[in-house]
Amino acid sequence: MEFNEFDLHPHVAAGVKAAGYLTPTPIQCQAIPTVLKGSDVMGLAQTGTGKTAAFVLPILHRLIQGPRGRVRALIIAPTRELAEQTHESIGSLGKQTRLRSITVYGGVAMNPQIQKLRNGAEIVVACPGRLLDHINQRSINLSHLEALVLDEADRMFDMGFLPDIRKIISHVPVKRQTLMFSATMPDDIRRLAHEVLHAPVTVQVDHAAPANTVAHALYPVEQHLKTSLLLELLRHTDTDSVLVFTRTKHRAKRVGQQLEKSGYRAVSLQGNLSQNKRQSALDGFRKGAYQILVATDIAARGIDVSSISHVINYDMPDTADAYTHRIGRTGRAAKTGDAFTFITREDNDMVRSIERILGEKVEHRILEGFDYKTQSAAQKHTGPHAGRTVKRRFGTIALSPSR
Ligand code: AMP
Repeated sequence: MEFNEFDLHPHVAAGVKAAGYLTPTPIQCQAIPTVLKGSDVMGLAQTGTGKTAAFVLPILHRLIQGPRGRVRALIIAPTRELAEQTHESIGSLGKQTRLRSITVYGGVAMNPQIQKLRNGAEIVVACPGRLLDHINQRSINLSHLEALVLDEADRMFDMGFLPDIRKIISHVPVKRQTLMFSATMPDDIRRLAHEVLHAPVTVQVDHAAPANTVAHALYPVEQHLKTSLLLELLRHTDTDSVLVFTRTKHRAKRVGQQLEKSGYRAVSLQGNLSQNKRQSALDGFRKGAYQILVATDIAARGIDVSSISHVINYDMPDTADAYTHRIGRTGRAAKTGDAFTFITREDNDMVRSIERILGEKVEHRILEGFDYKTQSAAQKHTGPHAGRTVKRRFGTIALSPSR
C-alpha cells in the first residue's frame, strides 16, 4: 500500500513527504482509510508502530475543510511528553494545513494556556487533569468537537486517569468520531471502549509483542556489578542513542552521575525534576547533546526518540507489559535496535513471562573480558560464604554464545 492511495488532501500529503515517510506502516494501512470514512476505531498498537500518524493524518485531512478558530479535535494523552510529541507531529505533518494545535498539561502555568486557547486552535493535545481544570474554569469550549482521540488508553488507566476521562467525555458532543489507541486490552479498557466508541472498527498490529525489528539479549549479572557491566558494555558496543531504565529514581540519578563521571554525555530523568529540567533533558537527548538518558518507567513514559539504538534495562521491569513499553522505544518504525536486560537470579520468573510474550527464548550473553568475580564490599566481609563466584551463582542458567 502507498500513501497516495489514501487520497489525502495535498497539504497533508506534503507533510507526509516532508517527514520522509515512504510507505505507510501496518497500523497506518489499516487505520487511515477507516478513520477517513468516519468510523470509530479501536487501535491495538504500541508505541513505535506509527500509530500517531495513523490518527493525525486523517484528522488533519478532515479539519482542512470547515471552520477555523474553534476546538474541533481533542487528543488526550497520559503524559506531557507524549502530548508534546503528538503536538510536534501535528506541527510537522500539518505544516501546510495552517491548522493550529496547542498543548494543555499540568506542571506549568495555567494562564499562557488560557491565552493560547483564547487565540484559537483547532486541535488540542491534552493530559486529563489539566484539561478538566480548563473545563471547570470554562476556559475551553469543547461544544464544537468533531474528533476525540484517547491515546495510550491502558497507560491512562494505569495512572488512574479513567475517572477524569469519563468526566471529560461527559463534556463533549455525543455526535463525534472517537478513536482509541492502547497497547493492551485489559477489562477496564474494554469497558471504556464499549462506553465511548460507537460501532468501532478494531485495527490491530503485533498484539502486545515488541516491534520485531528489535534484537533482545539477557545479561546475567550480580546486582553490585551492574554499573561496571553497563560501562563495559557501552565500551564494547557501537551505540547511537541509549535509553537506560532503572527501577528507582535514586538509582536513575546515581547511574546517570556515574556515566557522566566516566566521560559519557549522560543525563537522568526522574520524577523529581521540574518541568523545565525534564524538557531540557529530553530535548538534549532528542537532539543528540546527550547520548545516554537514564530514566525510570514513569519518567520515561511517552519518550519518542526515533534514533534510539539501544534500550538497556539496568533493572528488570516489574511486568512483561512494561518490558514491551520500554522496548517500544527502540527499533521504531522501520529502524532496528537492541534491547539488553541485566538479570539477577530474582528475575527468572519475569524472564519467562517476557519469553512467553516474545514467543521465543531470549539469548543469554556473557560479556567477554568482564570480571564477573569482583566481590561487593558486603561479600568481602561476610565470612565463609563470601566470594562465591558468579559462575556458581548462575550455574543453572544456560549461557548461549554471544552473537
Ligand atoms: P509512533 O508509534 O507514532 O510513536 O511512531 C514511531 C516513529 O515512527 C516516529 O518517530 C514516527 O515519526 C515514525 N513513523 C511513523 N510513520 C512512519 C512511516 N510511515 N515511515 C517511517 N517512519 C514513520
